[in-house]
This record gives sequence, C-alpha cells and structure tokens, in this order.
Amino acid sequence: MLQLIGFDGDDTLWHSEGYYRQANDAFATIVGRYVDLGDQRVHDTMLATERRNLQLFGYGAKGMTLSMVETAIAVTDGRIAAADIHRLVELGKDVLQHPVELLPGIRAAVEAVAEHHAVVLITKGDLFHQEKKVAQSGLADLFRRIEIVSEKNAATYQRVLAEFALQPAQFAMVGNSLRSDIEPVVRLGGWGVHVPYHVTWAHELENGLDDDDRHVLTVAEPAAIPAAVARLRELAAA
Ligand SMILES: [Mg+2]
Repeated sequence: MLQLIGFDGDDTLWHSEGYYRQANDAFATIVGRYVDLGDQRVHDTMLATERRNLQLFGYGAKGMTLSMVETAIAVTDGRIAAADIHRLVELGKDVLQHPVELLPGIRAAVEAVAEHHAVVLITKGDLFHQEKKVAQSGLADLFRRIEIVSEKNAATYQRVLAEFALQPAQFAMVGNSLRSDIEPVVRLGGWGVHVPYHVTWAHELENGLDDDDRHVLTVAEPAAIPAAVARLRELAAA
C-alpha cells in the first residue's frame, strides 16, 4: 500500500529557477563588459564552478553568489571592479528575497493528496532561505513533516522512510527534478510523480532513469497530481 507522499519545494510548490536564471543573465551582462566570451561560455564556466563548489557550499543562492564572484574574477583575470563584485552580491540577495509565488493549483493538489495519504515536504538548499519560503508559502500546515536537507539522495530518502517505519514501495515522491526527486526514490523501490517545470538547472537534468519506467508518472501541471498519485496507489496495490 502506498502510504506516504513526499513533495519537493522549489519549482514544484513554488517558483524558483526563474529567479536563478535572471541572476545568471544579469551576471553574464556584468561580466560581458570585461570579456567577450559570449553568454554561453560565461554560463558554462559558471556552471562548472558551481558544480565544483557544491560540496563546499551546498545548494542555493548563497553558493551561487560565491560562485558568481569566483567565476567573474577568473574570466576577467582579476580585472572586475569592486563595484561590479558588489552588484553580483546584490544579485544573490535579490534571489534570496524574491516573494514566494505558488505554482497554480498546487495548494488544492496537496490538499487532495493529503486526504488519502500522509504528506511530507522534502526540500534542499540554504536552510534560512528554505525556512523562509516554507513559512511564506502558507502550505506548512498541510505537511506532516518538513525536511530541509543538503542533498536528496538514497540516504536522505531512506532516513525519512525509517522515521516513518515504511518501506520504499510505500512511498512516492512528487517533484520537478528527475535527478533529485524521482531517480533516488525509484532506485530504492519507490514511486515518482514527475511534474516538469519549464526551466531546469542543467545540473538537475542529469539522470539515469529509463523513459518508460513504470514506477514514474509524468504530469503536465499540479492539478493532475492527485489523479497520478491515485494511479500509483492502484499500481502499488496490484
Ligand atoms: Mg525542485
């Protein structure tokens, strides 16, 4: 029996990646005044720096900000002005302060799922930023438990399942990232509802799932989540 349903936060409950994209575009404009690398080269260098720094800074806007500063210094050979470094820091602060905007229909979707299952929120990133987003979302009361984690991997999901004394087959995760929300859960023996967001950070696009994995259903919008969970409930019971 399917018992517990996990929901991702960023780009599943509320908009997030768009703010990071805006910051990255503004970053490329600032750096572009010093070097003519083309936006793609700047973005590629930034992505490589961010990935290298993930294990030191973790996910989120603060790590992105430090990676922007590091990348800007590197690609300009140290010529970037202090005033422009300051602008990069402000870009990061803007991401941390953006208003929380829920995806259309998500509250009703979580409420509908919560009628049949315990629901938990499992989100990763800066602790302060995630806590603020959870509070501002107005959704906190719907969740049995809220987990803010530094990485979403098999160990993370196993820990949550152990706390509920459940097997992976009794758990489904709903999220926009195949890499973080769906693949680790399915590999453990659980289920997934993939709700693609219109933009996805390149790092989150990488995954090793088969397109036709029967443990994963893909839906186009939050309104379709409850029916997908109901379908997984049938599959899990079969
Ligand atoms: Mg997400």
